[in-house]
Amino acid sequence: KTNMPVLDNFWMPFTANRQFKAAPRLLAGAEGMYYTDVDGHRVMDGTAGLWCVNAGHGRRQITDSVTRQLATLDFAPTFQMGHPIAFEFAERLAAIAPGGPAAGLDRVFFTGSGSESVETALKIAIAYQRAIGQGTRTRVIGREKGYHGVGFGGISVGGLVNNRRVFPQIPAAHLRHTLDIPRNAFSKGLPRHGVELAEDLERLVALHGAETIAAVIVEPMSGSAGVVLPPKGYLERLRAIADQHGILLIFDEVITGFGRLGTPFATDYFGVVPDLVTTAKGLTNGTIPMGAVFASRKVYDGLMTGPEQQIELFHGYTYSGHPVACAAGLATLDVYAEDGLLTRGAELATYWQDALHSLVDRPHVLDIRNLGLVGAIELAARDGAPGARAYDVFVDCFRKGLLIRVTGDIIALSPPLIVTTDHIDTIVSILGDVITRAA
Ligand code: PMP
Repeated sequence: KTNMPVLDNFWMPFTANRQFKAAPRLLAGAEGMYYTDVDGHRVMDGTAGLWCVNAGHGRRQITDSVTRQLATLDFAPTFQMGHPIAFEFAERLAAIAPGGPAAGLDRVFFTGSGSESVETALKIAIAYQRAIGQGTRTRVIGREKGYHGVGFGGISVGGLVNNRRVFPQIPAAHLRHTLDIPRNAFSKGLPRHGVELAEDLERLVALHGAETIAAVIVEPMSGSAGVVLPPKGYLERLRAIADQHGILLIFDEVITGFGRLGTPFATDYFGVVPDLVTTAKGLTNGTIPMGAVFASRKVYDGLMTGPEQQIELFHGYTYSGHPVACAAGLATLDVYAEDGLLTRGAELATYWQDALHSLVDRPHVLDIRNLGLVGAIELAARDGAPGARAYDVFVDCFRKGLLIRVTGDIIALSPPLIVTTDHIDTIVSILGDVITRAA
């Protein structure tokens, strides 16, 4: 007998529903590096929840801050009024904004999720172009296999075709993805191949006309496509081409923000400065839903103080700057700072890399990728059943006490940034056993 509740009424995300109903796993508690399921089975969290619990689970400082805030000011809107904690949180974020002070990405807009951050950034980009007299620039360029959440804007510019097949689109075009080029062939860190695919931006600009393009949006490191790292120089080329044609560059850092790559943001890791950065997830350590968009002063000033600032634009969410989310976020930033978590990934990156690449000779393994505290192991598909082998590995790992994430035939790993070398050894040991035994 288990403590499994009735599973009929609650709808899981469309695709996940079937797999879940076939083999339900219900997580009931969490502490530090571990989840506990409804039957008391402990699993190590190899995924930081869903790339979000960067400081580990159950951080008391965050809980206490949220509880205090709930008792003081549970909710207040940020329309026509405000509350101090939203400004305080924005100021704290501005101080660690992507790219450091020189990048000037210190104008912060609060949202309620990654998807909302993406919708917000797309609208800011198009509205900014219009505000500076470039009103024909309404198209956005995304990337094949890019993931930008599930809003209509996000699925239009997103390149995971299944996510948008049945929905209408805003004008969007897609860069060819570096996933199409030969695999990294176990190169450690940034891949050796594919930088030339950045030139695909020139092709799309020529095809559609620069005067129709407001922005290009990419994940600096594609997460949902199965952890695809940009080749050295790729993002630099996108920046240069975008600049040449008056196109804004948006980095979707919903996954890479807040220390995942061993720097506060991917913007810092790559040293390439975009015009807008979307974040969520690690912003509140996954606790209270919240997102934030960082905008450059250029974009902010063009939009808010330019000659066409009176454009008929309304944008903002009921929960923009939610006081309780801000309280969670402020405490999260304290924890990140006190524990040095925004740069901890850099200290552990080599250990992590060596540990993952020790699996190179296991059966089925086609590629291993890593950067900061992100990892991916790509498995060969079982004949005629894409994704089946990786899914079996996921199920077996869970049974043996390790939570991983699989997308198709790719295993994605992103442990909380509090992970120790002992945890890493455990992750790799369980994975190695399970992969070796997989049919
Ligand atoms: N952008 C990226 C790069 C993401 O990885 C995600 C979520 N995985 C999103 C946007 C959407 O975030 P949310 O699910 O919070 O709406």
